[in-house]
Amino acid sequence: MYRVLFLLPLFAMAPHPGAAEPPAKAADASWIKPALAAVDAKLDGEMKSLLDLYYHLHANPELSLKEVKTAARMAEELRALGFTVTEKVGGTGVVGVFKNGPGPTVLVRTDLDALPVTEQTGVGYASKVRTLNRDGTEVGVMHACGHDVHMTSWVGAARVLVGLKDRWSGTLVFIGQPAEEIGVGAKAMLDDGLFQRFPKPDYCLALHADSHAKIGTIRYSEGLALANVDTVDVTVRGKGGHGAAPHTTVDPIVLSARIILDLQTIVSREVNPTDPAVVTVGSIHGGTKHNIIPNEVKLQLTVRSTKDTVRDQVLKAIDRICKSAAEGARAPAPTVKVNLDEYTPSTINDVPLAKKTVAVFREVLGTTNAIERPPIMGGEDFGRFGKGGVPIFMWFLGTVPDDRFNESERPEGKPLPSMHSDSYAPAPEPSVRTGVRTMTMAVLNLMKK
Ligand SMILES: [Zn+2]
Ligand SMILES: [Zn+2]
Repeated sequence: MYRVLFLLPLFAMAPHPGAAEPPAKAADASWIKPALAAVDAKLDGEMKSLLDLYYHLHANPELSLKEVKTAARMAEELRALGFTVTEKVGGTGVVGVFKNGPGPTVLVRTDLDALPVTEQTGVGYASKVRTLNRDGTEVGVMHACGHDVHMTSWVGAARVLVGLKDRWSGTLVFIGQPAEEIGVGAKAMLDDGLFQRFPKPDYCLALHADSHAKIGTIRYSEGLALANVDTVDVTVRGKGGHGAAPHTTVDPIVLSARIILDLQTIVSREVNPTDPAVVTVGSIHGGTKHNIIPNEVKLQLTVRSTKDTVRDQVLKAIDRICKSAAEGARAPAPTVKVNLDEYTPSTINDVPLAKKTVAVFREVLGTTNAIERPPIMGGEDFGRFGKGGVPIFMWFLGTVPDDRFNESERPEGKPLPSMHSDSYAPAPEPSVRTGVRTMTMAVLNLMKK
């Protein structure tokens, strides 16, 4: 999902828990150079086939919970490598297990789903897929969150690791997770026994494409990385009637306007200014015609927080403000529904695992190309894999060529499209290459002999 407002000034204002800590120490690097040379040699042999896979996945995206063909392809890829594969874990989820002697169990996660976005990138391999969305409307479908980069890097890492299995010992658990974009896939796999039916991981790793970082770089946070995400549906009620006779009605459109403005005071006036929070009304629908006052208006909100206490405070404030504004307008009580089944808890990277992994990335990418950054208010259900105490680490993979990045930095330059944009087009070859290199080296770092 990575439902992110990529506003750089926001990062600058966000708290930075890692700021006081020293940067990741240089690792014992003697194993890294020969391992990386072996990884690169294997990867060179796989690159053409991996790019074909990327173009295929990009042109054939499937929406959340409908990732049937995508999941089948991922299962087929793992089976061909000798993984023991189980399908339909938590819906369309795929779990592949590869046992290679004693040692730690490392889970590597990709997500499978795409978004209801009509692609406008103009690339030759663009998606032309159209389908019905969850609400029954026809939509274009696009891998606008880069999950095709994740899947290709994941397959590439599996191929390279199996090819280099004399260099490591332990158990790989490669999972293809459905429905990340609607925040339910990780929970569905966990509820379906991911940690009971299959070897329980000692570590969980994942990467995510980054629409604002250069090729050959990664960005990461130690500790808190991504926010709590809630969605709230509000139905504001009134009493409809003729637009020329407002005195005979209770106008839910005026009431909604008041509620939307009042909601802005939660973050600005109620939450401690040092605690990040977001309340965004992303959708408002009401009415049918110029001169009819409708009976109701529907609002859709996204709510972000980093502390559970703040989450609770904000959700209660939304309920209170909607209900009291309605009372003040002599309107019937509104319905305020927090969609608990779509709640995504914050992603908290394990600090020692992050330090240990990034120390290797600095050797692989160059010391300045693993960039620490403050947490962002995007969300990801990968965080759920860490809620039972398993150390997790997700990093963000640069996908933007230098020329496009530099152009965006000029005062009048063309800005970079954000994640989920219809124009987001990661550069395939170098993105996948860096994805496979970082993922493979992160795993080898934990499992090397
Ligand atoms: Zn996304
Ligand atoms: Zn995503």
